[in-house]
Parts: sequence; C-alpha cells; structure tokens
Amino acid sequence: MSSAKSADKWGEWESESHRCSCSLSEVYPYEAILYEVPFTNPVSSLVWDSFRSYMSSATHGLSDTFNGGLKPATHDYVEFRYNCTKCNAKAVSVVVEKTDDGKKVRKGRYTYKLHVKDRKKLLGHNNLQSFVLGTNDYNLISSNCSHYARAVFDNAE
Ligand SMILES: [Zn+2]
Repeated sequence: MSSAKSADKWGEWESESHRCSCSLSEVYPYEAILYEVPFTNPVSSLVWDSFRSYMSSATHGLSDTFNGGLKPATHDYVEFRYNCTKCNAKAVSVVVEKTDDGKKVRKGRYTYKLHVKDRKKLLGHNNLQSFVLGTNDYNLISSNCSHYARAVFDNAE
C-alpha cells in the first residue's frame, strides 16, 4: 500500500518506474487521458454521499446548482502516457492531480474502475512541468480535483 493519502481513498494506485533504460530526454508524452475513479473505500463513499445530501437539504438544493453542485464520490485526474522515441517502448505513465493535500505529480497509475472522460494525442512536448498548473489550494466548491484535471487536460498539447 502506498503511503500517499489519496491512494487510501481513490482507485488502487500502482507506482510505475521508467521501463526502458534510455535517457529521460528520449521519452515524450504522446497521450493525455482525463480519468475519473470512484472511492475505493465504501465508508468514505457513504460519508461523502451523506454530506452531499445534507448540503443539498441545508441549502435547499442550492448546492446542486451552485457551480454544478458538489461533485460525486469520484476523483478526476490526468494521466500522461510517455513513449520512448529511441526504443519505441511504452516508457511510463505520469499522473497529475489535485487532492485535498494539494497538487501531485507522480509516476504510476490508478487501476480501479477507471472511467475515461476525455482523451487526446499530444504533440510531444517533453516538459512535464508545463502540465502542472496553478496553486495548491484545494476548495471543494471552486477548486476541486475536477476543475484542476480539466484545466490540466485542456492546457496540454
Ligand atoms: Zn527506450
């Protein structure tokens, strides 16, 4: 089990390392995938659903219309898939996401009940930092993982 806090809540994280032995300058991102994963922990999911319905009744349904409403018990993130130009291997996957501990960039992927919301081929810029946007601030209503993942996905080219 990973020590990352988010892995306790979301989609069965598996770390990955660079699979070929070529230099990192040989490796480029060829695809971005905007994914959604459910909570893997049914207790968290239940608590979240209760909170959502509490907010909905406490605000007389306002939370459903405000900013699209509170998000479902899922986590959105972007996975960048890297290939090696030298040996043509699939090199590694890198996930860029925002959780309640801030933004994260790490090699690996979630594996549990993934749902693809969007995907696109990339032009092959090699600068991972260019995919990492904005601040660490997490706000459920206006700056949650869904907003962040969509912005990262839209920005990638
Ligand atoms: Zn290689």
